[in-house]
Amino acid sequence: MTGSPLALLGGEPAVTAPGPHFTWPPIEDTDRRAVAAQLEMAVSIPDRSGITADLEDALASYLGVRHVVTTCTGTAALHSMYAAAGIGPGDEVIVPALTFHATATPLFHLGAHPVLADVDDRGRLDLDDTARRITARTKAVIAVHLWGLPEDMDALMSFAGEHELMLLEDGSHTHGATWNRRMTGTFGTASAFSLNGPKPLSAGEGGFVATDDTELYYRVLLHGQYNKRCRREIPADHPLACFAVTGMGLKLRIHPLAAALAHAQLTRLDGHLAGRQEIAARMCAALDGVPGIHVPHVPISSRPSWYALPLRYEPAELGGLPLQRFLDAVHAEGATEADQPGSTCPLGTHPLFQAPGALLPGYADGQDPAVGDFPAAEYVHATTFKLPVWHREEDVRLADAYTAALAKVASYAKDLL
Ligand SMILES: *Cc1c(COP(=O)(O)O)cnc(C)c1O
Repeated sequence: MTGSPLALLGGEPAVTAPGPHFTWPPIEDTDRRAVAAQLEMAVSIPDRSGITADLEDALASYLGVRHVVTTCTGTAALHSMYAAAGIGPGDEVIVPALTFHATATPLFHLGAHPVLADVDDRGRLDLDDTARRITARTKAVIAVHLWGLPEDMDALMSFAGEHELMLLEDGSHTHGATWNRRMTGTFGTASAFSLNGPKPLSAGEGGFVATDDTELYYRVLLHGQYNKRCRREIPADHPLACFAVTGMGLKLRIHPLAAALAHAQLTRLDGHLAGRQEIAARMCAALDGVPGIHVPHVPISSRPSWYALPLRYEPAELGGLPLQRFLDAVHAEGATEADQPGSTCPLGTHPLFQAPGALLPGYADGQDPAVGDFPAAEYVHATTFKLPVWHREEDVRLADAYTAALAKVASYAKDLL
């Protein structure tokens, strides 16, 4: 017996509520009614009508953009966005080295090359490294608002302008987050969002592209929404109207039941975000100053969506205690939702980025940047763990128990060495 109060060493756990502690999306009767009603109305919508139109109108007005096209996944939305932006064979798009792989992978299906650029110590795109990666083939740069913390869009907009690159956004973590009171996803020429299960706005499975650019909008339709929708929306005298029946050959429509769920969720998004905002502030205040744990810096111009609360772990402040051992102790305290990001990791570590040719004919292996070229992405990934951010008043106690669990493990870290 060590006599340590740490649960890992036999003490009482800090979190006693039974898990799981976080589920998303929150399903209420309005969601059940909306999906049930849609089931009676239509389960296939070939054009822009019904719930598809309702959701796209609601998203366009929420974001303040001219056009929204829903898709079956966020990955499909990224694919359609890149295709519609005219990204093609040999083109390069600069992607942050630390993101979810689907920010970049659709580029492989357009014959284009994701060019990774390192991030800074906060996980934002490092614009000096980005500038070094620009070549004559660079067409665009994509901003990812990781964990719902908006990128510095002033810096990115002027960077893109200065280098004459198209600015695109992957808003998959960041529905409703703002930078200088302007919605993320409205800074670039176009943006793609996921509506996947845990994302701040969820359809279960789904996604969408948002843009003010009507030509790009037509091309998004031609990429993944062929036939009726293209025939009805692309003006007959448009030079691409003759392709309406086949489009570009892909069909990436959202399912109406998924659209009904997202539409019902969207009416509550601002409430969810306001609740998260409050609880995130409370969690950050509780963790500020806890040795070994660094809360994210949130600039005054930024209102995050708090897809998660990413925390930086500094082992040196806890006698060199490895993050894994720290997390083992946190889990033993009952804070089971604390985790290290898994698939959102330095992209160069994925075999697909090291050896795309094995799966994708036409891609030479070993051309794209290998592991080790992105020291900051590696460092940020290796030292980041995250907590869920709850939104309901009744979850405040759980949030407090989680931050208490981290503080407890930090204060008894020497027992674990
Ligand atoms: C989830 C996610 C995607 C992919 O979206 P899916 O709906 O899962 O296809 C792309 N980029 C980021 C940053 C994501 O988090």
